[in-house]
Amino acid sequence: MHRFFALALLLAPCALLPAAQPNILLIVADDLGYADVSFNGCKDYETPHLDALAKSGVICTSGYVSHPFCSPTRAGLLTGRHQQRFGHENNPKWDPADTVAGLPLTETTLPQVLKSAGYATGWVGKWHLGAHPQFHPLKRGFDESYGVLGGGHMYLPRSKGGAEYTIPLDRNGAAEEQTKYLTDHFGDEASAFITRHKGKPWFLYLAFNAPHTPLQASDAWLERVKHIPDERRRTLAAMSVAMDDAVGRAMQAARETGAAENTLVFFFSDNGGPIAVAPCDNGPLRDGKGSVFEGGIRVPFVVSWPAKLKAGSRFEHPVTSLDVFATACAVADAKVPEGVKLDGVNVIPHLSGENSAAPHERLYWRTGGGDSFALRQGDWKWVKPRGADKAMLFNLKDDVGEKTDLTAQKPEVAAELEKAVMAWNKELITPLFQSPRPAGKRTQPAQVKSSN
Ligand code: CA
Repeated sequence: MHRFFALALLLAPCALLPAAQPNILLIVADDLGYADVSFNGCKDYETPHLDALAKSGVICTSGYVSHPFCSPTRAGLLTGRHQQRFGHENNPKWDPADTVAGLPLTETTLPQVLKSAGYATGWVGKWHLGAHPQFHPLKRGFDESYGVLGGGHMYLPRSKGGAEYTIPLDRNGAAEEQTKYLTDHFGDEASAFITRHKGKPWFLYLAFNAPHTPLQASDAWLERVKHIPDERRRTLAAMSVAMDDAVGRAMQAARETGAAENTLVFFFSDNGGPIAVAPCDNGPLRDGKGSVFEGGIRVPFVVSWPAKLKAGSRFEHPVTSLDVFATACAVADAKVPEGVKLDGVNVIPHLSGENSAAPHERLYWRTGGGDSFALRQGDWKWVKPRGADKAMLFNLKDDVGEKTDLTAQKPEVAAELEKAVMAWNKELITPLFQSPRPAGKRTQPAQVKSSN
């Protein structure tokens, strides 16, 4: 009996304590095609660390982003809200004097909310949410920052290029020289952040610019994919493998600090592969970056949390990058400020099987203030592409490639979906700023550069 009571006393306090707040690792790739990771069927190179991450959790086969190109997706991601609600519907031009082109200061960000819940918050990678100092990550909720503040960057040190792509790296607001392959820097910094914050809850937004153009890889990464005959595809593969390795090093740091089990990881690309300008592979999906067909908005998408989610699962219902905010707040027990209307949901009960319903009745897209629209409802997809004079209707269950327009056969479904997307459109505002050039529409293919 004595032994029983001793054991009970030992266990009782543990049972009364709330579960420890999980760490949250949000990994975003840039312009990565749906089929450019081996867990989604990449044909010519391997992404072993991303595969391991996928195996440790849930592959979301219908994982979407809220926009078919860079900056608006990131604005939606960090606010948990449709970015068109607050006018962030285009890419900001690189202009440190521009106080408008950036994530509006009226919006509450995920790191701000997590910080108030006791998290250490860090950003590593690409920002692309405004060049003016008022938009800097340290002003938007991050305790620590390291990376490139524009929409992309040269990968090899001392490369020549435009101003935005050659600015020094930014460490906590101070300029720092790039000394190695950019993706390697990001892997180092992600690992260091995780190690530095051992034993307390942290949130790391690890936003790679890879494999966004310019196509540039170091010889070490090219060696890993030397079997690929086409030079441009080989370079893109090397860039993706470098990113995979950086993810592996971040996960290794999580294991070494005892954080791996209780870390919620999201991984996805900010938009689909830009098939018009880069040798990427969106698998069976139609079109690519810039488009509201599936190839522009459906992306490689993984959620892993070993402490709560079953390893090796697949989830077929649509989920979205807008879900990250609501999910993170729920698991961190962080309070969303009053008056903030989130568009995403906590996906954990759905991914765990506790709630068998689909997380969303509908998902919506709009670009350019109304140039194109799309809506997904169940297996139905309604699309009004840019420049088209009429909308189209597809059943993704039978036709994931959006080849057969069913509008004539199902006019009542098309009308219902159009009505829903136009009702949503009424909640949105006119874009606050314009993109410097249309995303994903460059006419010349990106040039390949490589060296040490
Ligand atoms: Ca992008």
